Amino acid sequence: MPACSMTPIRLVLAALIACHAIVQSSAFAPVSISPSGIAPPLNSAPVSPGARRLSVLSTTYPPFRNTFSGRRRPTSSPILPTALSATGGLGEESSAERTGPRVCVIGGGFGGLNAALTLANLPWSMSDGCPKPTITLVDDKERFVFLPLLYELCVDAASVEEVAPTYRSLLEGTGVRFERRDVTGVDVENRVVYTIEPTSSSPCTMTYDALVIATGAQMNLDAIPGARDFALPFYTVDHCYELRRRFNVLDSRQPITSTRDKKGDEEKVEVVIVGGGYSGVELALNTLERLGGAEQCSVTLVHRGDEALQYATDYNRKTGQDRLEKAGIRVLTGTTVCEIIPTSSAKADLEDDSSGGLEGSSFRTCLVKVIDRKGHRSDLRTDLLLWTAGATSANAPIGVLNSLLPRDSDGRIVTGPYLRAKGLDNIFALGDCSRARKVPYAATAQVAMQQAPVVAWNIFAYLNNNYNRRGGDKSLKLLPFSYLDLGEMMTLGNDDATISSLGGLVQLSGPGASVLRRLIYAVRMPTARQGLTAAVEGAQRRLQLSRIGEVDSMQGRKGEKRGGKPIQWK
Ligand SMILES: Cc1cc2nc3c(=O)[nH]c(=O)nc-3n(C[C@H](O)[C@H](O)[C@H](O)COP(=O)(O)OP(=O)(O)OC[C@H]3O[C@@H](n4cnc5c(N)ncnc54)[C@H](O)[C@@H]3O)c2cc1C
Repeated sequence: MPACSMTPIRLVLAALIACHAIVQSSAFAPVSISPSGIAPPLNSAPVSPGARRLSVLSTTYPPFRNTFSGRRRPTSSPILPTALSATGGLGEESSAERTGPRVCVIGGGFGGLNAALTLANLPWSMSDGCPKPTITLVDDKERFVFLPLLYELCVDAASVEEVAPTYRSLLEGTGVRFERRDVTGVDVENRVVYTIEPTSSSPCTMTYDALVIATGAQMNLDAIPGARDFALPFYTVDHCYELRRRFNVLDSRQPITSTRDKKGDEEKVEVVIVGGGYSGVELALNTLERLGGAEQCSVTLVHRGDEALQYATDYNRKTGQDRLEKAGIRVLTGTTVCEIIPTSSAKADLEDDSSGGLEGSSFRTCLVKVIDRKGHRSDLRTDLLLWTAGATSANAPIGVLNSLLPRDSDGRIVTGPYLRAKGLDNIFALGDCSRARKVPYAATAQVAMQQAPVVAWNIFAYLNNNYNRRGGDKSLKLLPFSYLDLGEMMTLGNDDATISSLGGLVQLSGPGASVLRRLIYAVRMPTARQGLTAAVEGAQRRLQLSRIGEVDSMQGRKGEKRGGKPIQWK
């Protein structure tokens, strides 16, 4: 709304709200905890960023309970031109530059990134409509990660530009601003997001008129004793690069744990993968292939459920199980990991170095203690322990820890069909961090991507309705989310995949499915330019790999370990 068309009362109101916002959003105001959320008091003694973060995290975040019930709804204020409604915050532009409201999107994964891009392309400023908002995407990482292709990045079948482009390159020319920040809390009443800069830890705030939360989920390694010390999850690019490093170490060293192969009397690397869902099976087959096949490596999949891939379509489940069997991967179903302890040789290392896991310069052999449903216990000696279990409900909520948001017992933000946080007009949540109905949607990229345009439209409607104070028939209607299952695809190795789509009408596996999977992912990339990069890179890699395969088979090197390329980026 242009300032000149305001009535004097509105101008006074706007000035008051602007003053209030200036006070609230003071970038370096220390944070204290108030019963209603986080409020930065005036005149408080400054605290160190580290201490501040700790106190914020430990005091306000009440995990696994609904923190919203019984609380006052935030007062709804009209959408003001942001130059009037706030100052301070991230990546400030001059007030002359700013004309519209502010939308802040926290989390640049499949949900957040696609919501931000769709928002930027909606028809803002139609006739008397709301001016285009400043759209800021906030993520604590530098790169977007196309997670379904993480396996390919790990085994060098895809490049980092294809799988994990930087946000800056992705968002160039899209009208979406990017800020690399770790979000530490949200004050829903005063519409302020609290962040710290990941490298310097300097605190900063930003104000918003509408907020999108899409912070995903994270692997929970705390439930099993020893898991944090020995298991490597597979959820981020850092995990992927750590796994590449471990592959390279295994390539170059004599395995500490080795079994004598009855046939060839060769030493084998022992790999244990926990979790027999999509990720576990995909990782098992790709790892076995990467480490030189069953002659060089022995892979065991530990799965608590009745069978591997139990939630997959019939076709994909059968194909996946068939490949596991043919590859010689041992699958222990109905089996639970109880504890992980170091082997005697690893104990000595552990005493020297307490960093463990990802940061450690080496990784250690361990004993994975498992129990089956009949109560039989056994120990699995392991050179490499990979963890894919607990990717859904066992996940602890990450991202917006300090906030009075409605949560379910698993920490997901509860929304209704409009993907709006219950009881909050201007906060939307989508993807893995949210729950839109009683039986939660699967935690997949497909769900997050389909939710993104719905969230974008609903913010468009919310901002336009409030900007014009439109009511009744004139107001833009919010859209409910409804999910369309497009099918599922899985990688089963470098040159193998399985696809099941259109309710079983399309069922395909083998090399053709592998090529098609990469093509479909190229089309699903967040921007057309990224899609083109993915298609070209994918084709080049495939050509390269088939040439290497030809040379290998000409030189009789089939089945030998293929050493990974040196790490190019981390
Ligand atoms: C290895 C692997 C393979 C997969 N394969 C498939 C597949 O083939 N098909 C499929 O449909 N799904 C697949 N999934 C699942 C899918 O990737 C997720 O369901 C999807 O990424 C969820 O999207 P999201 O936007 O909710 O969260 P994410 O994509 O996880 O994005 C969350 C973002 O929020 C950021 N963030 C978190 N906390 C903060 C904070 N405090 N401050 C700032 N930023 C923060 C993170 O850095 C991240 O960028 C796979 C997952 C994995 C791990």
